[in-house]
Parts: sequence; C-alpha cells; structure tokens
Amino acid sequence: MKTKQNEDKQVPVIIIGGGPSGLSTALALARQNIQSIVIERNPGITQHPRARGVNARSMELFRQWGNYNELLQYTHPKVARRFIWIESFQGKEIARVSMDDSSTKDFSPVEVSLVSQDLVEKSLCNTLEKHKNVIVQYLKEFISFEEDDTGITVQILNKTTNQTEFIRAKYLIGADGTRSQVRKQSGITMEGPDNLGQSCSIYCDIDISDLVKHRPCAGFLFANPKLSSYPYFASVNGLNRWIVMIRLTKDDSREKFTDEYCIDQIRKFTQLPNLNVKIIDKNFWKMGAQIATKYRSSRVLLVGDAAHVMPPTGGFGMNTGIQDAHNLAWKLAFVIKHNIPDKLLDTYYAERAPITKRNIEWSLQNAKRFAEIYEAIHDNNIEKLQSKLHEQNNHFNYAGLDLGFIYHSSIISSENEQTLSISPSDYTPTTLPGSRAPHVWLIKDGKQISTLDLFEKEFVLLIGEDGDSWQIAANELSQTLQFPLVVYKIGASGNLSNPDNTWQDIYEITSSGAVLVRPDGHVAWRCKSIAIDPKTELDKYFRNFQ
Ligand SMILES: Cc1cc2nc3c(=O)[nH]c(=O)nc-3n(C[C@H](O)[C@H](O)[C@H](O)COP(=O)(O)OP(=O)(O)OC[C@H]3O[C@@H](n4cnc5c(N)ncnc54)[C@H](O)[C@@H]3O)c2cc1C
Repeated sequence: MKTKQNEDKQVPVIIIGGGPSGLSTALALARQNIQSIVIERNPGITQHPRARGVNARSMELFRQWGNYNELLQYTHPKVARRFIWIESFQGKEIARVSMDDSSTKDFSPVEVSLVSQDLVEKSLCNTLEKHKNVIVQYLKEFISFEEDDTGITVQILNKTTNQTEFIRAKYLIGADGTRSQVRKQSGITMEGPDNLGQSCSIYCDIDISDLVKHRPCAGFLFANPKLSSYPYFASVNGLNRWIVMIRLTKDDSREKFTDEYCIDQIRKFTQLPNLNVKIIDKNFWKMGAQIATKYRSSRVLLVGDAAHVMPPTGGFGMNTGIQDAHNLAWKLAFVIKHNIPDKLLDTYYAERAPITKRNIEWSLQNAKRFAEIYEAIHDNNIEKLQSKLHEQNNHFNYAGLDLGFIYHSSIISSENEQTLSISPSDYTPTTLPGSRAPHVWLIKDGKQISTLDLFEKEFVLLIGEDGDSWQIAANELSQTLQFPLVVYKIGASGNLSNPDNTWQDIYEITSSGAVLVRPDGHVAWRCKSIAIDPKTELDKYFRNFQ
C-alpha cells in the first residue's frame, strides 16, 4: 500500500460502483458541494436493464437533482402500468392488475415512471457531467483499502493500463452491489436468506408487436401448467425490447442456458417457431432478502444493494438505494463541510435500516403472493386464484411505503413510534417528526414552487403569519450554529404565499406554530403553536448535533 505522501489523488469521498446507487450518491454529494470520484469496473452504464420502476419519492429526488425531465422523456407510452396474466399470447387472458398512481399524484409534484435502469443510469450520468466536482472513472476496479486516523487509502486497478492506482479519501462508499467487496473487506456481514431461488433474465430484441399491440402493459406473466416453467415477459420499451425471465428448477444449471436454449425457449413461449431472437445479454440472479448488520464501519459506508438485497417483486431495490444516497449525502456534507461530529453518520443506519427491512418484508410477501398464484393455477383452484389475484392490488399499490415512511434516530424529535403515515398502501400527509415534509404548492417571487423545493442544503424553519418570535429565535441561534438555518414565513406578510390556504392544515400547525425540516426534506421537529421560549426549544433540538 502506498503511503499518504504519494497517493495519486486526494478527494473527500470515493464511491465504488457506478450503478444507480453510486451515481445517485455522487450527484447528491455534488449538489452539497462535496467532491467525489466514482470507480466503476465496467466500461460504461449497465447494458442490462433490471429495474424498470422509479417510484414517486425517487422521482421527487430526481426532480431536485435535475434528471427528472430527461427521465420523463424516456417513458414509453406503450409500457402501461399494468401486469397481465395469460395462458399464452394466443390463448386465454387470465387476469390483469393495474398500478394505481392516483394515490401519489395528489400528494407530490411528480409523475411516477416506468423507465428502465439503464436509462436511469444514463440520466444520472448526463446530469453528473454538469458537475465539475465529480469524476466517474470506468474500467477501474476496487481492490482494497487501508484506513488510518486521518483517512482512507484505496487501491484501484486500472483495467486499461493494468496499473495499480491509489486514491486517498476521507470516506469510502461501497455502492458495489450484492457481492460488495467493500462490504466484505470492512467485515460487515449480512443477515437474512441469500438464495430463495435462481432466475435467468434474457434481455432480447424480438418483434412480438402483433401479439401484444392490443394490450400494452409492463409485463406478461405466463400462467400455464403445461409449460415446465412460468416465464415472465417484462416489457422494456413497449416495442421490441423484452426481458424474458425464466426460473431455474432445482435440477437446472446455468450451463443449460446457452443462447440456443434461450432462443428455443422464447420461440416455444411465443409459439412463433421462426421468431427472430437477438439476445443482447443474459443475467443470472438469486432472489435474496438480506440486509447488512450495519451500514458503517468507521470511514466506510454502504449504500444500495451493497447494504441490502430484496426480491424484485415490487420494484423497491433500486429505489431504496437511491433513497439511501439521499439520506447519507447531507450528513456526509455536514461532517465534511461543517465539521459536525461524525456520530451523525450513525443515524444513517438507524433511519434507513427499519425502512429497508420493511421494503424487504413487503417484497418477500409479494413474491409469496406470486408463488400462490402459480400454485392455484397448477391446482386448477379458480376460487383461490381469484382471491390471490385480488391480493395483487396490495403488491402494486404502495403509496404509504413510497411517500409515508417515517425515520427515527437521535436527530429526530419523535412524538411516537409510528413508522408509516398510515399503511403500506395509503399515504396521508403528516408532519410527524421523521416523515417526509408534505408537498404543498406555494408562490415564491411570483413563481409556483413546491414546499419540497425549499429543502436541500440547509435546515428550514417554516412558520406562519403569527410566528415572528420563531424568526427572531432562529436568527439569534444562527449566529452560533455551524450550519445554515433558513426561515420561511408562509402567508400574506411572509416571503412565500399559499394561494389555496391549505398549508397550515397539511403541516398540522396553527398560524403561530413552526415546523423544522432537515436538508433531506424530512421533518426534524415541530411545535404546533408558539412556545414560551422559542429559542430554548430550537436550541434543544440542535444540541443533538454536538
Ligand atoms: C430482475 C430484477 C428486476 C428488478 N426490478 C427492479 C425495479 O423495478 N425497481 C427497483 O427499484 N429495483 C429493481 N431491481 C433491483 C435493482 O436492479 C437493484 O436494486 C439496483 O441495481 C441496485 O443498484 P446499486 O447501484 O446498488 O447496485 P448495482 O446496480 O449492482 O451496481 C453496482 C455497480 O458496482 C460495480 N462494481 C462491483 N464491484 C466493483 C469493483 N470491485 N470495482 C469497481 N466497480 C465494481 C458493478 O459493476 C456495478 O456497476 C430489480 C432487480 C432484478 C434482478
């Protein structure tokens, strides 16, 4: 290992892995003015779109980070937000279940989107290009790290020159996926089952438009006991790009899945013996339901699949990683930029792990629901089939999990132990500390903005018409705080207005109350009406950062 004096580069944060979690971390850090280097062993972004669903909360982050509009352009109208169970493309349609976006639409400034993972990564990369403080380096592989009292030295293999390089950083982020080397070297273990079944995803170019044009959807699930497996055709662009997923049986080996075998299977499933099948890529993956026992070991932090793995049923894997990045970035920025004690980084696991555990559990339940459908079909049990199909509404409607998750940690002034605004399927706006501060349309300098647009780099205190004493207290406190605190007064005499006069009700305060929101848009603390000593109240909260 090189010594501190002769490292090739120095940077505050080095991120291993240029997947959605690593790129999101780099972008979220860049927006906090924290420089980083992303190390990715592949030559570019993924060629195999695994995830296809970006949920409302991730879209809200993308809207803030600048890649939202690009993603909307990639949305294919032919990839409708519904799933269809069929006997075969030519045979009987068994059922269809639609995803209900209306439940998030009313509570968010964004539209949700079915966009494939490669395009998510592309939009993140395009946006990162505008940030001079991020370098994404492809064809570089993480080898090892060594930590000392002042930082961490990371050894990288340059796959183009075959030379070893060294980078010195304050923090190392493992965003290197399920088989994370960063995690292994830091000694962090995983808990939960790692193999609940194996599948082969065949990403291919096939023209089956005649078979599907009358029923656009996100995916066709084959439910036909005559087939040895129950294949799933996931639509990537609604036209010619599909991912055909086949579950491996206990007796199947990966070697069986040659190109010839895969082409033959696809022709069999589509009942088109002469179908032209171009295989773009094959990906074998094991369904796991695991979470790391911690997300931090000193200067090493984990995000995304390096920290957790969940069944793809429900589409929460990538979204959970993006939201990890968002939770972590401002905390790292506060530690690096504002010299806040680094115990702040321990709140990352405290806040994210319970949310992730629930996402894992919910995805697991969805996988079980899928399996029960196949069992009912296999047993020709129509009654059970109908009831299991009905239960799929739970699978595809998850506004509560998406927008209603509530954090708890030493920097949240929790009022109760609630971890969801209401339920996994429903969302109700709330300012219970730990929850995402609700979206309300406001007017600022003559322009319409969302409350969400106010939260990124600073703590924000939202006050109403009669909240001037909060403003005075915050101004005084700001003199001693190590990080910025901004006050917005909403109302006729304030710097923001709320034309439909709903914000106080939605923010659950009176005109003399106050809501303190963290840089990640989660409520830190609230006081429903004026306090006897506003400065002491606020000061009590901010002491958590000492
Ligand atoms: C079939 C399927 C469908 C899915 N559908 C959805 C969905 O609809 N919605 C959803 O949210 N999620 C979904 N997921 C999950 C989603 O794909 C993952 O959660 C997501 O890819 C995780 O992103 P990541 O950046 O954490 O890890 P990855 O995407 O795995 O990226 C890790 C990166 O690190 C790089 N790397 C690894 N080791 C090194 C090293 N030593 N040096 C340098 N680079 C390294 C890798 O090359 C890779 O680019 C699905 C997954 C599967 C398998």
